[in-house]
Order: sequence, then structure tokens, then C-alpha cells
Amino acid sequence: MANPLTSDVLVDPVVLTRALVDIESVSLDEKVIADCVEEVLRQAPHLSVDRHQNTVMARTGLGREQRVVLAGHLDTVPLNDNFPSTVVDDLIYGCGTADMKSGVALALHLAATLPDPRYDLTFLFYEAEEIESRFNGLNLVAKHRPEWLAADFAVLLEPTYGVVEAGCQGTMRAVVRTRGRRAHTARAWRGVNAIHAAGAVLRRLEDYRARTVTIDGCTYREGLSAVRISGGVAGNVVPDVCSVEVNLRFAPDRTPEQALAHLHEVFDGLDLEVTDSAPGALPGLDAAPARDFLAAVGAEPAAKLGWTDVSRFAALGIPALNYGPGDPQLAHAPDEHVEIGKIRDGAATLHRWLAAY
Ligand SMILES: [Zn+2]
Repeated sequence: MANPLTSDVLVDPVVLTRALVDIESVSLDEKVIADCVEEVLRQAPHLSVDRHQNTVMARTGLGREQRVVLAGHLDTVPLNDNFPSTVVDDLIYGCGTADMKSGVALALHLAATLPDPRYDLTFLFYEAEEIESRFNGLNLVAKHRPEWLAADFAVLLEPTYGVVEAGCQGTMRAVVRTRGRRAHTARAWRGVNAIHAAGAVLRRLEDYRARTVTIDGCTYREGLSAVRISGGVAGNVVPDVCSVEVNLRFAPDRTPEQALAHLHEVFDGLDLEVTDSAPGALPGLDAAPARDFLAAVGAEPAAKLGWTDVSRFAALGIPALNYGPGDPQLAHAPDEHVEIGKIRDGAATLHRWLAAY
């Protein structure tokens, strides 16, 4: 197959978005798109290029004082009768248009057309973001090529509909267990009912007042929710155990350790076991490239409420934020689309920020 990412495609981020969408790249099937991206990057004399599996890295080496990462994932969720792309008025429809080939198009367009940026730039086009994190290209880079991630600031071009979304909340899942003693329900007084005891867990959840925290102008709303409950043995048995699974979404001013301490406080006296957790990320908007970026966007940042790969950068001490043309509400939807105007705005903003050398 001839590479569809020709030089006249690369100069127009809208045409480039369509070309990227029309290269099928469902998670774990990114070889073709990674080959195409690698090939065009290798043609740019100002970039040095490297690859790990289906993750492609390209960077400038201009000796600037600061380095910025622009990153996007190449994979999409499975097709849903939305391939290849179509255009209706000023909307491009198709799998991955919002999440996140329009964002990838902005990064690739800049990589190919901006030989003299204001900061040194590292571009990361990575595989397998939409599936389990053991496949995630950024995760693998952090493990096997950590030097690729050296930077002062990072922008992930995930869909935010042109808004800057900074930091992200952490998440922790835990199981709160109540115990009792089995008995025949005909002689219920001989047992202790663990499901009844779980009422204490539910009451604490009902009474819980979640915090709202503002950091660097971004407001994070925490939440503590029961997400599953299980217990019971048979229709005539007093149950001896009941489990309530809870999910705490915590603002990035808490570490996972502090979040755990908080859960122990909320469920004081009850048996609690953590099953899964991921740290949040502080917005980190005081770094100089971040301040310049916000000035180029010209709008206030908002808090990211979901967990994103931004926190992989935060874990390495690199402030990072999300900024992309797609609408996050349309990600993974069958009618996924992106507005052509948002792609043009995004390209203009990134040029304003990075071309001013
Ligand atoms: Zn995405």
C-alpha cells in the first residue's frame, strides 16, 4: 500500500485527520498506521525518529532550554459501522475522529511542518491506549524507553473540545466486608446476618459529603460510590458475609496513601480491602511552557474528572494536560465525529504557541 500521508496531506490538518481515520487501527492492530507515521517522520530532516513496537517517537534536537511532549494514541475502539470516514457539512464522521485521530493529526502536522519550534519537541504516537494498561504504548515507553519521556511539559491531544483540561482525579476501588454467622432462617436468632450489618456501610455512604477542591483554578469534585454489592447463601440461610464494593474518585491533592487513609476513616471499624488504585495528577500549570500554552489558548483551564494518561507523565514529575479538538462525549460513540472548525482552531493555537521563536 502506498503511504496515504503524502506531503500535501500533511500540510492540512483537516485532510490529514481524514487520512488517519481511513487507516484502520483498532487496538493491537496498529502496525500499518505506525508504519505510515514512522515513514513520514523519517522524511523530516529536523527530527530523529525511533520506534518501540507500534509506538513511534520523533524529536527535535535544537538545544532549546525546554522540551515539550506532544502525545496521542494511534489506536481506536472497534469499528461500529463508522469506517471509512464521511463528511457532512463541516463534520467529519468516523471511528476515531474525536478520540483521537484529529488530535494525532495536529501533532503529526506540526511535526512535519514546524522545523524551528520555540521549544524542543518530542512527538509520541503510541499504541493500545483503549485497552488494558499492560498493552499501553506510553506505559511500555515508561518501562523500556524512559529517556523518550524526558520533558518539562506534556500535552496529550485527547478530545477536550478545544478546552484545556488539567491534571486528573485519582481512583481507588475497595471492598468493605461485613461478617456474620450462618444459621437456618427458621432459627435466625442463632446466626448473625452479614447483609443486615452491611446497612452500616450503606448509611455511611448515604451520609458522605464529598469534597470540592480548587487547585490552580481547576475545580475537582470528589465522589464515593457503592458500585456493587454481593452476599447471600440460599433462600433459607442467614448469610455470613456481605461485600460492598466502593469507588473513591479523589482530587489530585491527595496521594493514594492519603486516599486510603480517608477510606479507613470513613469505614472506621469495618473490614476494608483495596483492590485497585491509580494516582491523580496535579494540574501543574505554573511551568513556563504551560503558562505560555494557556496564553495561546486564551481560555481558563478546566479540571479533568476522569483518569487519563496525563497521570503517567505526572508520575514522572512532568506537568501535563489534555487539549484536543474532539468532543469527549462523542468518544466511542457510533456517530463519533469532529468539527472541522475545531481542528483548524487547534492547529492555529498550537502554531501560535510553538512557532513564536
Ligand atoms: Zn483517547
